[in-house]
Amino acid sequence: MTRRISSLLKLGTVSIGGGSPIVVQSMTTTDTRNAIATINQVRQLEDCGCEIVRVAVPDNVAAESISTIKKGISIPLIADIHYDFRLALAALKAGADGLRLNPGNMSNKEGLYTVVAMAKERKVPIRVGVNAGSLPVDYQAHLPLADRMVNMAMEQIKLIEDMDFTLIKVALKAFDVPTTINAYQKISDMISYPLHVGITEAGLPVAGAIRSAVGIGILLYQGIGDTIRVSLSAHPSKEIEIAYEILKSLGLRQRGPVLVSCPSCGRAEVNVVALAEEVDNYLQQISKAVKVAVMGCMVNGPGEARDADVGIAGGKGKGVLFRKGKIIKTVSEEQLVKALIEEIEMF
Ligand code: SF4
Repeated sequence: MTRRISSLLKLGTVSIGGGSPIVVQSMTTTDTRNAIATINQVRQLEDCGCEIVRVAVPDNVAAESISTIKKGISIPLIADIHYDFRLALAALKAGADGLRLNPGNMSNKEGLYTVVAMAKERKVPIRVGVNAGSLPVDYQAHLPLADRMVNMAMEQIKLIEDMDFTLIKVALKAFDVPTTINAYQKISDMISYPLHVGITEAGLPVAGAIRSAVGIGILLYQGIGDTIRVSLSAHPSKEIEIAYEILKSLGLRQRGPVLVSCPSCGRAEVNVVALAEEVDNYLQQISKAVKVAVMGCMVNGPGEARDADVGIAGGKGKGVLFRKGKIIKTVSEEQLVKALIEEIEMF
């Protein structure tokens, strides 16, 4: 997998692009005006591995709240602004590490210029974000949606490049996966700015995770994407969990354990689902990068999961503990999970 070469950007303490590891991002669901609630949620996200957080800034109170929020969190914060340049200025003054806005939506061009000048002075990047749903209906209506998104983004980028600003990150999101992929592929050949990749409004956790994994996964596999966000109708910590699963499945990031479990079949001699869930509950609590297998039968299980660091396979009233496919111990069925946990702890 060869990654697209993008320019390096610093967002607070986090490096984006230029070959840096792909960064996991999310957005709070709290009212930004409530600094305590927002701090608490960001800390939850930090614990899950969130590396950049975005907060909505609908008014001046929310913008000013950023200074309090910043004191209580340790990851960079992006202020999400629509239309009103004064909110962007207030967010910058309050210490936002990044801005997400559509320059073209700011009708006051003098105001936009002031925002860009202040962002430049403070070395604060601006994410130009184009969402398929927010394109004006009559904007280049004769063109395919992906082209319209790209063209709109290029116009927005030019607007701030003309103000001598290049600390830019770009996102082009749509709900439709092929449209999103198409748009990112096109723009990735046109600019070298880092790209923030995601499928917007992807839905509830199961469908949304799949939709995001397909869209983000295909792009990442093609080397496109410097930061990612999985957008779900769920607590944002779920977004982080799924984002890491996508990155881990492509071998792009390591974080915590990986569970390998067989689908079970007529040869299974234990309840694989119950066993896998029990092991997963334990794995959720550890941060060790270990690959753990839970397999349904002793005959095929160890061999099928030979790339796992450690695993168990069930049998009639007993089971085996194995390491890299090699059986190291036979234990009673009741002791299987305990033996596995002991082995993981020694790993
Ligand atoms: Fe079936 Fe055994 Fe393979 Fe699980 S490990 S799918 S039980 S053959």
